[in-house]
Amino acid sequence: MADPVFFDSGARVAVLTTQPLDRLLTYRAPEGGCWQGAYVEAPLGPRKVMGVVWGAGETGFDASKLRAISKVLDVAPMRGEMAEFLARVGDYTLTPLPQMLRLATRAPGLTDPPSMRKVYRLGEAEPDRLTDARTRVLAVLEDFGGLAFTLGELAEQAGVTTSVVKGLVKQGAVREEESPRDLPYPMLDPDAPGKPLTEDQAAAASVLVGGIRSGLYGTTLLRGVTGSGKTEVYMEAVAETLRRGRQALVLLPEIALTADFLTRVEARFGARPAEWHSGVTMTERRRLWRMAGEGAAPLVVGARSALFLPFRDLGLIVVDEEHDQSYKQEDGVLYSARDMAVLRASVNAARVILATATPSLETWANAEAGKYERLDLTARFGPAVLPELRAIDMRDEDLPANRWISPTLEAHVRDRMAKGEQALLFLNRRGYAPVTICRACGHQVACDHCDARMVEHRFLKRLVCHQCGESKPMPEECPSCHVAGKLAPVGPGVERLAEEVAERFPEARVAVLSSDLFASARALKEQIGLIAGGGADIVIGTQMVAKGHNFPLLTLVGVIDADLGLQGSDLRAAEKTFQLIRQVAGRAGRAERPGLALLQTFQPEHPVIRAILSGEEEGFWRAEADERRAAGVPPYGRLAGVVISAGSAEAAFDLGNALARADAPLRAVGAQLYGPAPAPIARIRGRHRVRLLVKSDKTVALQPALRAWIGQFSPKGDTRLSVDIDPQSFY
Ligand code: ADP
Ligand code: ZN
Repeated sequence: MADPVFFDSGARVAVLTTQPLDRLLTYRAPEGGCWQGAYVEAPLGPRKVMGVVWGAGETGFDASKLRAISKVLDVAPMRGEMAEFLARVGDYTLTPLPQMLRLATRAPGLTDPPSMRKVYRLGEAEPDRLTDARTRVLAVLEDFGGLAFTLGELAEQAGVTTSVVKGLVKQGAVREEESPRDLPYPMLDPDAPGKPLTEDQAAAASVLVGGIRSGLYGTTLLRGVTGSGKTEVYMEAVAETLRRGRQALVLLPEIALTADFLTRVEARFGARPAEWHSGVTMTERRRLWRMAGEGAAPLVVGARSALFLPFRDLGLIVVDEEHDQSYKQEDGVLYSARDMAVLRASVNAARVILATATPSLETWANAEAGKYERLDLTARFGPAVLPELRAIDMRDEDLPANRWISPTLEAHVRDRMAKGEQALLFLNRRGYAPVTICRACGHQVACDHCDARMVEHRFLKRLVCHQCGESKPMPEECPSCHVAGKLAPVGPGVERLAEEVAERFPEARVAVLSSDLFASARALKEQIGLIAGGGADIVIGTQMVAKGHNFPLLTLVGVIDADLGLQGSDLRAAEKTFQLIRQVAGRAGRAERPGLALLQTFQPEHPVIRAILSGEEEGFWRAEADERRAAGVPPYGRLAGVVISAGSAEAAFDLGNALARADAPLRAVGAQLYGPAPAPIARIRGRHRVRLLVKSDKTVALQPALRAWIGQFSPKGDTRLSVDIDPQSFY
């Protein structure tokens, strides 16, 4: 879209709807006309559907047959940049436009008329009697100047019941008025002073600020060890963005991290930013969607889908922990939020900051190639120093069966406890044991619907399938040979490790951090707060502890199985292991006390383990880059994964074989096709899965070839096909 066009009443307009149609629909513009980009409701058969006026409608047929748009929604029209962004993400990921529009309108009630609600402000009159509770209510209203509160907000802020507020309303001391439900977000004060930056930090910040001032697109890798102050530094870029009247978006890989971030923003800019993630209420989602479009949400903190909010003028996107795999959306529209952030910024003349301690190889290579600017923060802030890393050679350790904490690690944990410090034992496996085996017949208990073993969760007293979530009570007898009392756990999960810890350190206070153990985000936040406050001596955690939490008393990290991620055929196995262990090790010694990270390994001479220990990160990336280049795989080649699933393996293979025979469009661009082959997890939720993999040179425009190739077929019956561009997972 170039400059938006205005369509007079009755003009023909093309509308993109959220319905799964392969074309735009033509309508007459409504009474009063409409802008290109307007969100509208339009009749489709007996229904009304939501859509966007995409451009001029088709001519050449009888206009009197056309139906008129029913109404123009009272929201900011879609901007040209947004339309271009959606079209380009759709092209890149092979996603039809209607599905892109659905992704960009994930807020309920957008078609509702703007609704009103009651808000409360300071009134004129004096109350007859001033109780403590009443004083607090009035103080809150005075403190916040002219700000209006809802009844609930005001009562909560003042720590009173709502009846206290209502009492004050009766007396005229508090005024009740109607106001539009979707209020703008508070302005942030970009000139509020931040923390004084170190020389290193200030230098990096000034480069970032310069980028914002340029008003041009650009991406910067901000690399710095955990605790080096990356957040403080990119806050300066956020401040400059706000100063220039543009909006900023900060993406975080996990909701659990947002609470801490919101507090930091409030401390820095005097108000909280808007939040967008799965834990946000529907009303709040709608408010943010609308306000983003009006430019009345200056700073948004969110999960990857916040990238599709209709910002009025987005000037900066920060992708924090950019290497994190959760930035890849693994169902529905398969996109990488990190890569699409770069695309969005390029159509918006905006900046991207990719912050991380351990960049993804893609990002590292883009910086090497000069496509991204690179800034390094080398030291931790203040007295904190990087933890020392050491291997524990498990071949030399004397460890009985079904025990995983080596004597060496045990001694170190005791030593830390004696000093009143915390130890973290890291094991990236949820549950009690990954395998349950029958000691009579050797059968391993598997999921009925998936090609996967069931994982014992002793805390839940159930076996759980980590693929489909199905669970069943722990059986008394073997499901195969029906002998009772012979089922035994094999291997450790965090729950089993917790059992060992309880036996070895009966006096220790133990906290387990594993995503499945918390019913709510709040419970998880409390646990994190408890640990940070020193309420635990030993923390046992899965990979969720690797992400950004700040535990000042934690000085020892023990990696129970450093070899775990090195097995398997994933092309990123080395990279992921390197990132994960470096991140986990980074949890140690964030405050004044120096940290130590111990890696239990059976292969201390493995190149990845050696690279982790040596701390020579550049050397690791260079070696990894060489290997990928030689193999022609990302980031030096292109990959696309195709998954076909169906009720029967036969149906899935039928389509897979047909695709393999019809690969001329792929060969035309020199791309190679592998498969079809049964997927590593050949059945999920009762559906059989077959994979194909397409590999090509970096220079090839792969998407058009893929489209031509797949377009030759349309999956029949219950067969489904999905294409994953730049796949991260290969299950
Ligand atoms: P990172 O994002 O690189 O992990 P943070 O920005 O979270 O690092 O900084 C780590 C800790 O050090 C935080 O508590 C932060 O407030 C503090 N910190 C960093 N830089 C400064 C500074 N210049 N002045 C005061 N505190 C700082
Ligand atoms: Zn299952």
